Amino acid sequence: MSNSSTFQEIGAWLDQYDSFALLSHVRPDGDAIGSQIALGFALEAAGKKVRLINEDGLPDNLTFMAGSDRIETPPSAPIDVDVVIALDTATKPRLGDNVLAAVGHCERWINIDHHKSNPGYGNLNHIDDTSPATGQILYNLINALDLPMPDETRDAIYVAVSTDTGSFQYSGTTVATYEMAADLTRKGLDVGKINSLTYDNHPMRRVELMRALLNTLEVQPDGRLAHWELTWDTVTRLEVKPEDSEGLIDIIRAIQGVIVAVFFEELHDGKIRVSMRSKDRRIDACKVCMEFGGGGHALAAGIRMPGPLSDAKAKVLAVIEREMASL
Ligand code: AMP
Ligand code: MN
Ligand code: MN
Repeated sequence: MSNSSTFQEIGAWLDQYDSFALLSHVRPDGDAIGSQIALGFALEAAGKKVRLINEDGLPDNLTFMAGSDRIETPPSAPIDVDVVIALDTATKPRLGDNVLAAVGHCERWINIDHHKSNPGYGNLNHIDDTSPATGQILYNLINALDLPMPDETRDAIYVAVSTDTGSFQYSGTTVATYEMAADLTRKGLDVGKINSLTYDNHPMRRVELMRALLNTLEVQPDGRLAHWELTWDTVTRLEVKPEDSEGLIDIIRAIQGVIVAVFFEELHDGKIRVSMRSKDRRIDACKVCMEFGGGGHALAAGIRMPGPLSDAKAKVLAVIEREMASL
C-alpha cells in the first residue's frame, strides 16, 4: 500500500464536516457508481449532507441499483461543499472537466482508490492497490469507523466488488473479499436477485455490438495478443451506449493462449479509448498504459489517447509486442 491516510484520519474529517460531494470517474462502472452510493448512503444515515456527482451521469446498466437515482451530472454553476471525496478515480482529470469546474475550487479533498497508478491528488489519500475494488476499501472504512450500513450501502458494495472482480473470479479476490460477501449476505443481501440484475439483464444492442466486434477480431500468429475495435461509424449505426461494451473484453481475454487482450474504441471527439487486459504478471498493463498517459492495475488498465484509430493501434500494439518479446 502506498501513500495512505488512515481510516481514522479520514474518519475525523467525515465526523467534523457536514457537506460532501462524492465523485467517481468518467464512463462510470459498477465500482465507481457502487462506491458513490455505498459511502453516500452511509454518510447520509450518519446525518450528513451528500451529493453524488458523475461527469457522465448514471449509465442504463446500473439503474437497477437502489439509490442510483441520486447520481447527478455536474451542476452548471460551482457548488460549495466542505469536503470532496473522489472514489475509484486514478487521476484527477478522470473526474471530468464539468465535475472539476463545479467542485475544483473546494479546499478539502479525500481520495480513496485501488489503482496503483493513483498519484495521491487529495489532501487525504487512501490508495490500497491490494484491494480488488474501491467498494471493498469502503466496506472496511465503514466498519472501522462504525458508520451505519443501510441496505443501499450493503447492496452497492456487493455490486462494486462483484463487477470489479469479474464476479469474484480475478486474482485480486481474497479471503477478505469472500468474507465480506458472506457478511453482506448475512445482513440480508439477496444474492440471486442482485446477480441476475447485474449480469442477466443486457439489452439486445449489446449482443449486436458483440457481433460487430467479433468481425474485427485479430489474433497475432503466435496467439498471444488479441485485439478488436469499435469505430464511431459502428457506434452510430448500432446506437451503442458507452456501457454496452463493459466487460466484453473478457471474451477475447478468455481465449486459450492469449496473454494480452486490447479493445480500441473511437470516441465522439476522435480520441481513442483503449482497454487492456493481461493474464501474465510479467506483462504489466498499467505500465504499458502509463506510457500513453493512461493507468489502472497490472492486469487491467486503460488509456484515452489521440487518434486516429490506426495510429493509436499501431503505437499501443508495438509497445505490447516489445514487452512480450522478453517473455
Ligand atoms: P476498463 O478497461 O475501462 O475496464 O479499465 C480497466 C481499469 O483501468 C479500470 O480500473 C480503470 O479505472 C482503469 N483505467 C481505464 N482507463 C484509464 C485511464 N485513461 N487512466 C487511468 N486509469 C484508467
Ligand atoms: Mn472503475
Ligand atoms: Mn475499481
